[in-house]
Amino acid sequence: MPLMQSWVESANDPNTPFPLNNLPYGAYVPDGDDLPRCCVAIGDYLFDAHEAELDDVIALGGLPVACLGDWTGLMRREPEIWAAFRSRMIELLHDGAPEREIAKTYLHPLEGAKLVMPVCVSEFTDFYAGKHHATNVGTMFRGPDNALPPNWLHIPIGYNGRASSVVVSGTDIIRPNGQIKAPGADMPSFGPSARLDIELEMGAIIGGTTPLGQPVTVRQADDMIFGYVLLNDWSARDIQAWEYQPLGPFQAKAFATSISPWIVTKAALEPFRTSTPAREKDLLPYLKEPGPMLYDIDLSVTMAPPGKPATTIVRTNYKQMYYSAAQQVAHHASSGCAMTTGDLIGSGTISGPEKSERGSLLELTWGGQEPLTLDTGETRTFIEDGDTLTLHGAAHGDGYRIGFGSCTGTVKPARQFP
Ligand code: CA
Repeated sequence: MPLMQSWVESANDPNTPFPLNNLPYGAYVPDGDDLPRCCVAIGDYLFDAHEAELDDVIALGGLPVACLGDWTGLMRREPEIWAAFRSRMIELLHDGAPEREIAKTYLHPLEGAKLVMPVCVSEFTDFYAGKHHATNVGTMFRGPDNALPPNWLHIPIGYNGRASSVVVSGTDIIRPNGQIKAPGADMPSFGPSARLDIELEMGAIIGGTTPLGQPVTVRQADDMIFGYVLLNDWSARDIQAWEYQPLGPFQAKAFATSISPWIVTKAALEPFRTSTPAREKDLLPYLKEPGPMLYDIDLSVTMAPPGKPATTIVRTNYKQMYYSAAQQVAHHASSGCAMTTGDLIGSGTISGPEKSERGSLLELTWGGQEPLTLDTGETRTFIEDGDTLTLHGAAHGDGYRIGFGSCTGTVKPARQFP
């Protein structure tokens, strides 16, 4: 599919993350106001969908979809309504739109806009579905012969995280305190994590619900995915190492998870669908994909010490995942677990086969043994106070990009324990 032309000129720039082909969903708080409003990104602007719906410029009949402060209203409707809303936005913003003068009144500059959470996250489940990541971490912890747990090639492994600590890009990250046991120490101690890390992930956001007890097929699971965001699953490796057996991570990943401010719809990503890699073991029937359900999305991470320029420390691609989000959701619902509107499904850390493609500092520095040298000349094993970590992502089409905006956070010193 080529670039779709818009009367918003900046949307036709081949380098904009937000051409008419994209139309991602966010929320902003206007100057002098307190209440968030749904908006759609187009070129250098946001389109105030909240206001447009109140004025009946967007009128899909029935329930409100864009004037509730976040996108829950649209997400809980059927995929046909998702498509109708997107079609209406394209109708208003395409080159030669008859309602151009009306639509123009809802545009506001994106630069400087205060973006807030686009979705009320109802639940957060995080998976461990990247084979290169699982192999690297397993090799460090258990040796190369036992790198992948015996269930890994059969089950997309996950754990239930916390929705309460999911934050929008730009939110400061407070270094967590926790219980840590130094190698060789007799007793654990309590204090700030010294091995604070990122995890480069994608998040899938569910629209609609499944009743308790009702499994879904992989196809049905794919149909329930409303869109995708970039996701940084901040992790405290020293807290994790001491607490994780036998029930998995807990406080090590409960202090912050950042998401990008824009939900990129499945419709915008459609041209970039790709298949998961070849299976090394045949999957059980309920996990088999009926078609391509992963996406070709270029991803990178930059690290900037306080007041210094950023260095790109990772470049990889979402298509490196072994399991798709649809497979993860189908597995999640397979026991009868209910899925709800606003469910956030973390992919798991995305690493490629090369060293430069590793999606966490744990892997990049091989457990802290091989420090990274930044472009500023400084070195890092894990994150230091004041460092800013930013995830970037875009799918690259013929003369256009489908961007996610950035997913950024600056680490602040740990709080004194009361
Ligand atoms: Ca994770």
